[in-house]
Amino acid sequence: MSHAVHDLHSHSTASDGALSPEDLVARAASQGVDVLALTDHDTTAGLQAARQAAAGMNLSLLPGVEISVTWQAATIHVLGLGIDPTDACLNAGLAQAQEFRHWRAGEIGRQLEHHGIEGASEGARQLAHGSIVSRTHFARFLVNNGYARNVRDVFKRFLIKGKPGHVPGQWASLAQALEWIHGAGGVAVIAHPARYRIKQSALRKLISEFKTLGGAAIEVVSGSHDQAAVNKCGRLAEEFQLFASAGSDFHDPKQTWLELGRLPPLPRKCRPLWTSPVWPLPARA
Ligand code: AMP
Ligand code: MN
Ligand code: MN
Ligand code: MN
Repeated sequence: MSHAVHDLHSHSTASDGALSPEDLVARAASQGVDVLALTDHDTTAGLQAARQAAAGMNLSLLPGVEISVTWQAATIHVLGLGIDPTDACLNAGLAQAQEFRHWRAGEIGRQLEHHGIEGASEGARQLAHGSIVSRTHFARFLVNNGYARNVRDVFKRFLIKGKPGHVPGQWASLAQALEWIHGAGGVAVIAHPARYRIKQSALRKLISEFKTLGGAAIEVVSGSHDQAAVNKCGRLAEEFQLFASAGSDFHDPKQTWLELGRLPPLPRKCRPLWTSPVWPLPARA
């Protein structure tokens, strides 16, 4: 299956994706994806519906999660692939992140209110339909109400460090996230390493700590990586002897970095995660 199309990073309405797990799986299948990982932010809530949808399709669904981590004051995303979605420790850990998200939503709302924007936390919560609240929901609310042109514009003007709606993350530690992932039988992957606003030396330290904690791979091909980022992450994977992963980070058919399954190839020297001895991971969602 090493020639099969692997898309190991995607989102549904269980977090900040626009498609339900069922629709996401159907779209992936129609785009020619052979192995899809659903990796919602800090929740396993979409995995059962995704598994049921995939059962009738020519697609293998890998249960996953994208865990928010605070590392040296930066927010880092770690993917857990092949996790048991019912694992009690994992879900207890994710519940902490969900609680922080709930509090943060109120806080972002209060800050935006000081800035003259009314009703943002209620609006974002409404758009989340009872699922976890993400900054993406705030972004959609602000776009819908004419405060910005598009989601990217919202992040730039309101939600990132130094802007009126920014609330620093207080997420799990790297060690905790890897413990939860490994405890649930999964493998850990650093998501989109080129996207973090940290120095090159810090990125290397992060990868080195990740490797020491038993991390398996870094995401080399990502919807949010340009070719230079792909090349850079490919070199890092090689240097640290980690496997290379690939995922679209698909969120929304309208505004996404990349379509499901439309991924450029991994650099030649990379060892794809799906050729590692732990593969295939159990599809037990
Ligand atoms: P959160 O985990 O709630 O803090 O939100 C992070 C999410 O916001 C990411 O997973 C992306 O989906 C989205 N995001 C972050 N930065 C940007 C950006 N510059 N443009 C569009 N979406 C973004
Ligand atoms: Mn997201
Ligand atoms: Mn991410
Ligand atoms: Mn993601």
